Amino acid sequence: MNILVIGSGGREHTLAWKLAQSPKATKLYAVPGNPGMADIAECIGGVDICDNEALVKLAEDKAIDLVVVGPEVPLTNGVVDAMNAAGIKAFGPRKLAAEIEGSKSFSKNLMKKYGIPTAKYEVFTDADEARAYIKKEGAPIVIKADGLAAGKGVIVAMTLEEALDAVHEIMDDAAFGKAGSRVVIEEFMEGEEASLLAFTDGKTIYPMVSSQDHKRAYDGDKGPNTGGMGTYAPAPVMTDEMVKIATERILKPTIAAMAKEGRPYKGCLYAGLMITKEGPKVVEFNARFGDPETQVVLPLLESDLVDIMLACTDGHLDEEHIEWSKGAAVCVVIASGGYPKAYKKGYPIEGLAKAKALDTLVFHAGTAEKDGKIVTNGGRVLGVVAKADDIRTAVDKAYKGVNAITFKDAFHRNDIAHRALERLADK
Ligand code: AMP
Repeated sequence: MNILVIGSGGREHTLAWKLAQSPKATKLYAVPGNPGMADIAECIGGVDICDNEALVKLAEDKAIDLVVVGPEVPLTNGVVDAMNAAGIKAFGPRKLAAEIEGSKSFSKNLMKKYGIPTAKYEVFTDADEARAYIKKEGAPIVIKADGLAAGKGVIVAMTLEEALDAVHEIMDDAAFGKAGSRVVIEEFMEGEEASLLAFTDGKTIYPMVSSQDHKRAYDGDKGPNTGGMGTYAPAPVMTDEMVKIATERILKPTIAAMAKEGRPYKGCLYAGLMITKEGPKVVEFNARFGDPETQVVLPLLESDLVDIMLACTDGHLDEEHIEWSKGAAVCVVIASGGYPKAYKKGYPIEGLAKAKALDTLVFHAGTAEKDGKIVTNGGRVLGVVAKADDIRTAVDKAYKGVNAITFKDAFHRNDIAHRALERLADK
């Protein structure tokens, strides 16, 4: 089969790495891909991943049998619909189904209608009404821009002042453009967060191993929010019992609800959960694999990812398709100095081969090739992943790999998986 991966980050590198292991994958393409994928996939530049017509033409030219979509924007832009209309299979939800991520008010209203546990909320298009509601409810409270805001449109306000400032920024000043013309204001939930990704064919849904990410830039969960500085899987808070509860109360009802709404959802459904005293509640849904959750989840998948994706697109997903390793995986992100604010690009990266020789996987997130050398080209540059029988060994192994890699102004967190390690220490 010829397979085309859309995207260029660490998630897409991981997807390509896993897909390439399938005996069914004869040739892999990536658009635009990244230098880390170049030895497993032919990377094609110069095509806008939001241009459905150009993507369909590319898929036709390369006789693609399966398209795998990484990021959310092409999904909400209807790339799966466009591929299907041209008779090409594509893994991921169609436009109407991708709205579960594309519009927070849509997903919140869906959860309310079908009794799927989530924080209490109201939706506002008028800033004064939003302010009045905040004053009535009090802090802490959470303000969310409705549309896609590259993970930045959420403000967890611990004081009334912060909450009112957030409304001003999102609605009056339109800091996130059109994405903020409508806001969701919701109850603050207390608990530990975990991510539960799942494969679904629109009728059945099976969770992947759980994971947890580290959103803050610095050790001790301090500093600004980022796209994610590291992950580990499985998340100890997601015991077998908790996964079962989340599957029964959240994943299955959501897939049934989407079908009932005439928006059958196929692909990977990502549930961001808060494990509260009352049980798991949805923080958000994403319509695609997480980044960097994918970097730890897929290395633990023992089965053939092409088979699973075909079962999802063709509507015959079965638990037998999906087998997981009993071990653990850890991903430590190495970022450019300054990230998530301004940072410089173009610094040569040393030690990639050395890290791989230490039995780690090095997934590229923001790199480029310049004069035959790999250089930095983004905020999050690399994800160093290690797999082991237990989380502690995986952490040690990942950091050995991280320490082998150098580039100017590089930084990483030193405490990835600290919650899991603390739980072990408590035992
Ligand atoms: P989201 O983009 O909706 O996942 O929100 C980003 C982050 O904000 C989440 O990962 C949580 O850490 C936090 N957050 C969002 N909603 C809530 C909530 N209702 N209560 C507490 N924290 C929240």
